[in-house]
Amino acid sequence: MQNKVQLIAYVDRLSGADLPALNTLLTTELSGLFSAVHLLPFFYPIDGSDAGFDPIDHQLVDPRLGNWADVKALSEHCDIMADLIVNHASAQSPQFIDVLNYGEKSAYWSLFLKEQDIFPSGITDSQAEAIYRPRPNHCFSAKTLKSGQQVNFWTTFTDNQIDINVEHPEGKAYLEQVLQLFADNGVKIIRLDAAGYAIKRANSSCFMLDETFDFIDALSQRANQLGMETIAEIHSHYQTQIDVAKRVHRVYDFALPPLVLHALSANDVDPLIHWLGIAPRNCLTVLDTHDGIGIIDAGPEGDKSGLLTPSQIDSLVESIHTNSGGQSRLATGAAANNLDLYQVNCSYYDALGRNDFHYLIARAIQFFSPGVPQVYYAGLFAMENDAELLKKTQIGRDINRPYLTPQEVHSRQQKTVVKGLMELIKLRNRHPAFDGEFEVSGGGTSLTMTWSKQDCQIALAVDLASQEASITSSMGDNEKALDLHQLANREAD
Ligand code: BGC
Repeated sequence: MQNKVQLIAYVDRLSGADLPALNTLLTTELSGLFSAVHLLPFFYPIDGSDAGFDPIDHQLVDPRLGNWADVKALSEHCDIMADLIVNHASAQSPQFIDVLNYGEKSAYWSLFLKEQDIFPSGITDSQAEAIYRPRPNHCFSAKTLKSGQQVNFWTTFTDNQIDINVEHPEGKAYLEQVLQLFADNGVKIIRLDAAGYAIKRANSSCFMLDETFDFIDALSQRANQLGMETIAEIHSHYQTQIDVAKRVHRVYDFALPPLVLHALSANDVDPLIHWLGIAPRNCLTVLDTHDGIGIIDAGPEGDKSGLLTPSQIDSLVESIHTNSGGQSRLATGAAANNLDLYQVNCSYYDALGRNDFHYLIARAIQFFSPGVPQVYYAGLFAMENDAELLKKTQIGRDINRPYLTPQEVHSRQQKTVVKGLMELIKLRNRHPAFDGEFEVSGGGTSLTMTWSKQDCQIALAVDLASQEASITSSMGDNEKALDLHQLANREAD
């Protein structure tokens, strides 16, 4: 993977249309900005109950977006990251419908995980309690087969997402087929979606077990053989994240988004500096994604303290709600239809109260943090919350999943803050020091992040007390300085 900025996008929501339209956008208006693009699920259907993370056919490109040849064509300009949805498939998939129709006689009976596979005599309350869940309800959904028999299928997420038995040859074959298709069609990076939940064992948390690491390992090795690399998508306590990072190729740094927000809202960079000192280096950094802003990633868990204290977390969540004029409150937790109650749904730009200077500081901190940075399409255009879409769908995360038109994509690029962000992206892509050594220093309200390689150096200095921020860079004798205030206030030309 190149050490350059990547884009995260829904094909249709960013391009206004399909894969060819996205290809055009990336090779014209957005050319030169991104080394790779994470195409959010583009399989059939893109508009199921979990916006593509509930595939009916994981091997079919949704015809509304194009076909595999279009994916391959895009891969000629830009590395492609795709989701391998390892944990589940849609209840409307032909395989599951076959199971409903023929029960144990179905060829796919073993593809899906049932309560009886792990708990032959039924699950006890304490066993159920021990299971780590992204949502507070039960981990099974009872489905009635055509024969009238009721079977409890494992459904980690919604009752429309039936967990796959990834340890059974049927499950293995299912994943292998998707891997092959990815490799044949130019996919370079595989995001192992919700991989932490894939392996289940009785009397355990069923989350990130030793066997889960083995599973991720085996899948990653197979992907490597096919010329692809993997990234494990896991939200968890920061210490777990550090442990996971030691055992997988790459992880996401999901602690960064709340820590940057905390720094800017509380004028306190200490938790961020602490984290940057210990954070995994083999990571992708994000501030925003198609999901909400993760809170558990920076918070405490049981008796393990977090990067932020419970009261800092409370103030942070409140500050997001205040900065967004209360919109994020309507999109978060039980207020809307949400899979993950531990995330705050809000555009990052709104979470910062649409403060252009703070937004550019946040992006600069992201780009200076160890890891390969990804920018979500809504964040690229400094989008405000999409309250209309939320109102229409009542899906919490839709508040930050806007449908853009080509006109909007064009006009948004004229905004000063968007131009400023694009300038930061280019700087991150071009400056050779980012391939060197990282250092972080400061405390209280002041933060300095420096990268050095031979005679090249680049440093970000932020002082929240005086509200100043600048980037100084040097390559040999050539020195430059960029004031982020000026970048945020430069007249749009
Ligand atoms: C994805 C979510 C999705 C969930 C279930 C996550 O990790 O990022 O958008 O809802 O997996 O597939």
